[in-house]
Amino acid sequence: MNFRPHPDDIGENPWDPLPDLAGHTSRGRLERVLRRGEFAVTAELNPPDSADAEDVYDRVKVFEGWVDGVNATDGSGANCHMSSIAICALLTRAGFSPILQISCRDTNRIGIQGNVLGASALGVNNILCLTGDGVQTGDHPEAKPVFDLDSTSLLATIRRMRDDRQFLSGRKITTPPRVFIGAAENPFVPPYDFRPVRLAKKVAAGAQFCQTQYCYDIPRLKQFMTMARDLGITEKCFILVGVGPIASAKTARWMRSNVPGVHIPDAIIDRLDKAEKPKLEGKKLCIELIQQIREIEGVSGIHMMAYRQEEAVAEMVRDSGVLKDRKPWSRDLQHTAFNLQERVESNLDKTTHQTIE
Ligand SMILES: Cc1cc2nc3c(=O)[nH]c(=O)nc-3n(C[C@H](O)[C@H](O)[C@H](O)COP(=O)(O)OP(=O)(O)OC[C@H]3O[C@@H](n4cnc5c(N)ncnc54)[C@H](O)[C@@H]3O)c2cc1C
Repeated sequence: MNFRPHPDDIGENPWDPLPDLAGHTSRGRLERVLRRGEFAVTAELNPPDSADAEDVYDRVKVFEGWVDGVNATDGSGANCHMSSIAICALLTRAGFSPILQISCRDTNRIGIQGNVLGASALGVNNILCLTGDGVQTGDHPEAKPVFDLDSTSLLATIRRMRDDRQFLSGRKITTPPRVFIGAAENPFVPPYDFRPVRLAKKVAAGAQFCQTQYCYDIPRLKQFMTMARDLGITEKCFILVGVGPIASAKTARWMRSNVPGVHIPDAIIDRLDKAEKPKLEGKKLCIELIQQIREIEGVSGIHMMAYRQEEAVAEMVRDSGVLKDRKPWSRDLQHTAFNLQERVESNLDKTTHQTIE
């Protein structure tokens, strides 16, 4: 294992912006990892139902040193939790590389554009643009849905803010947001042939990376990736495939019926049904999926959505061998790198003084 972080990925203090790199639209580590051609790992943080910052720091600890980005969901399932922008702000303070998810369900274009500027000012480098789940799926079905923008127009809006330094109104932005922009896609539900075409539209609107819905069907993913390659999507957009362990056949059946867009083949449910230790089997299955996904041409990484099994992410990433000899950023590595640098500099100083004397 390489215990030194890549020198491009580390600043003097964890919260400092990293130096600019040519050809990069953000100063974030996720874009750096992907553009270097390294297989990236991102993970979804389960947002707390509390106003305590420590709840965020407690939850992110389990990912430290194992992932290149932490997704902060925006009222996923149309349920209310701590806001994605606040979670991202807390994460940047500690040096983590958050991915701000923005859903168009709750905020209009005035609010969203303000949040994009604010997030960038707080050090957020990555934004995932979503239309968002409808209010009827969540715990506040009586809430007023906004949907002023959708995922594609949101992508185009943020790209315009970043590249043309303009709000949608045409008014000038003095310092544009420095962000790496992403979209979601679901290759696993019909109409299958339309999914890559829709992703191509999102890429044309500005998507530089894509995180997919949970993958439990490798043949289906291969078909999607073949079409994505044929459409030239993989040359312009980094695709990270969604994965997650399922704790039991009962959970799998529940997810299939209740989580919109989740496709779990019968073979997977049978395997969990027959397993003596279903939770362990779910993790083994997830590791096997990660290893198969890694081999598919055009896939740039995985996105771990280990709901209520977040503590197992490190173990699954390690056992899958997906990082090879790479170690993503962590606070320990940050300190080690700077201690080493200080030692080297102080030794150089001593040598110089001795030579002069
Ligand atoms: C990785 C990931 C993270 C997510 N995080 C969140 C989150 O934080 N908050 C949240 O609210 N939701 C979240 N979702 C759910 C997501 O917003 C919904 O599943 C959404 O319906 C599809 O993704 P989108 O937002 O990119 O919508 P889009 O791709 O923009 O689709 C918008 C609408 O069009 C409909 N549609 C799509 N394809 C077709 C078609 N072929 N024919 C007819 N209608 C179609 C969809 O049902 C949807 O209602 C996430 C999904 C993924 C995969």
